[in-house]
Amino acid sequence: MAKDSGCVPPEKLPPFYRALKKFASAKKQMWSTPGHSGGAALDYSAIGRDIKKFFGPNIWAADISSSAAEMGSILEHEGPAQAAERDAAEIYGADTTFFVLNGTSTANKVVFFTTVAPGDVVLVGRNCHKSIMHAIIMNEAIPIYLRPLGNRYGLIGPVPQSEFRKEAIRAKINESRLIKAKKARKVRLTVLTNSTYDGFLYNADKISAAMADLTHFMHFDEAWFPYGAFHPFYEKRYAMSPFRRRRGLHMPPVFATQSTHKLLFAFSQGSMLHFRQGTGRKTLDMQGLVEAHQMHASTSPFYPMFATLDASAGIMKQNGYRLIDNAIEEAVYFRSYMQRKSARLARRGDWWFKVLQPDVKTRTKSPEQWALKPAQNWHGFDMGADDDILLDPLKVTLLTPGIGGDGKTALFGIPAGVLGKFLRSRGIVPEKTGFYSILFLFAPGTEIRKTDNLIRALSEFKKLYDINAPLFKVFPDLENFYKEYYPPHAGLRDLCEQMHLFQLRHDIVDAASRLHSELPQQAIAPHKAYYGLAEGKSEYVRLDAAPGRISVFMILPYPPGIPLIMPGERFPDARSGMMKFLKMSELFDFIFPGFETEFHGIKKKWEDRRPVYYINVLRRTKRQV
Ligand SMILES: *Cc1c(COP(=O)(O)O)cnc(C)c1O
Repeated sequence: MAKDSGCVPPEKLPPFYRALKKFASAKKQMWSTPGHSGGAALDYSAIGRDIKKFFGPNIWAADISSSAAEMGSILEHEGPAQAAERDAAEIYGADTTFFVLNGTSTANKVVFFTTVAPGDVVLVGRNCHKSIMHAIIMNEAIPIYLRPLGNRYGLIGPVPQSEFRKEAIRAKINESRLIKAKKARKVRLTVLTNSTYDGFLYNADKISAAMADLTHFMHFDEAWFPYGAFHPFYEKRYAMSPFRRRRGLHMPPVFATQSTHKLLFAFSQGSMLHFRQGTGRKTLDMQGLVEAHQMHASTSPFYPMFATLDASAGIMKQNGYRLIDNAIEEAVYFRSYMQRKSARLARRGDWWFKVLQPDVKTRTKSPEQWALKPAQNWHGFDMGADDDILLDPLKVTLLTPGIGGDGKTALFGIPAGVLGKFLRSRGIVPEKTGFYSILFLFAPGTEIRKTDNLIRALSEFKKLYDINAPLFKVFPDLENFYKEYYPPHAGLRDLCEQMHLFQLRHDIVDAASRLHSELPQQAIAPHKAYYGLAEGKSEYVRLDAAPGRISVFMILPYPPGIPLIMPGERFPDARSGMMKFLKMSELFDFIFPGFETEFHGIKKKWEDRRPVYYINVLRRTKRQV
């Protein structure tokens, strides 16, 4: 794709960015915060001059206090800020759009604090990001969960259609130990992640329509999917899709939150919250949204970040289709290159990485081809006939050898963590690594050079693996930090074999596939368990002692940042997917230092020269047996 070299006359720039540019170039004398005074205060120190130069003068000139009247008010949605948000709403198909400057993590909390009161029942996909789960705790909501599908690669799939049925939801409410007066209970807010981390997209239109009578409000966390509105490939797949109106369907009020910074052009943390009123009588008092937004916003907004959100909307309005179309093209090129190479090498009995995708025959961008059909084996999910899920071609999951088509661990395997570490050492940062899968995101601006670079690095890894290159040459940091843990003459292939054997012995395929579909039993409400810490009612125990005890924290591997257990839930027994996985990870950290999984919610201690996981649980009271 050709780079753009044109100029834009000021009147064509998006409104907030235009106003900020004008304000910053006027070089006013500010007798207000911030203390760097438009960068002037940095000239009096060496470090100050250095950082001013590094970022360039404009970022300082544009970082202004909210007392600048010409700029309107970000928190009150007035002036240029309001104009920017109104434009964005139109561009994205929302009734109302608010820019959120603390990421979708905060935008999700705003949605909860707008719609949910303590004790309200919320229906939440168990594959939701931790920020949704935090919102449940903060808001003192009572969660019931929609169970996602799992597969042999340990990917966390979409929630199947069967979970959205009225009877299924009713049964969950009836079974919940946390819900009293069950008959009267209706779901206040339903939350789904669209797309999932690995790129599985719902038919948002269909689900919203089906949920209209079952929930007051619908919320799609589209942190990974801020571009659905700009390409026909994604028709009906995103929350703000215009289709519902035309068909005259009954729709609940719908929210969507998007991390504009994750795949588009805002500074990190730049996020958008979109809202559309439903077709029924249940409407939202918009002042409630304004209040909840303010409650979660800093009173010192970062104007340059707001401007990048405004600019992102402007860019997508003008060039969105072309940018997304090119990104899909590039992703499909990479995918088909990888598949052809895989087939070619397989004929010689040699290995190469596989791509998680259906058999896409042509290069056309027809969504049909990317559907997850029940009869197909490639995705490994147990799909139902009425499921309507697409794989987003932009989210590319590569599979390393290790798991056969039958879902059993193969004798030959290359754990993806080793490949991930290798790529990072070559300056290539994948989004996420699983046991035998590794995720790459194709975003606008991904061009052939970047793709070719990735292909080259993958080939280099294969070469080093095949010759069993000395481990410490491939990973110098292992020699520097963990010399005594690895044999001095070990090679890359030796390490992969050891690690694969370890995972095979611990039956990782079985544990991983059950990890998010077996839900632990809820004992008390999440917020009550969480307060256990402040109330001095909790203690740390070793992993082995956890089964049967009630968790105080959320425990999650990061990435993907999706909880294994929530506060208030009871640790399941040692045969459960979760306990097997945690136990295996604890031992893995000891045997393969330098390849540890990052966990949130677990305290790692060193005892007898080995890492031990400690878990915070509620103390046993007399009433509990
Ligand atoms: C990353 C992510 C978030 C949080 O977004 P930030 O913009 O990083 O705060 C929320 N939900 C999902 C599904 C995410 O992947």
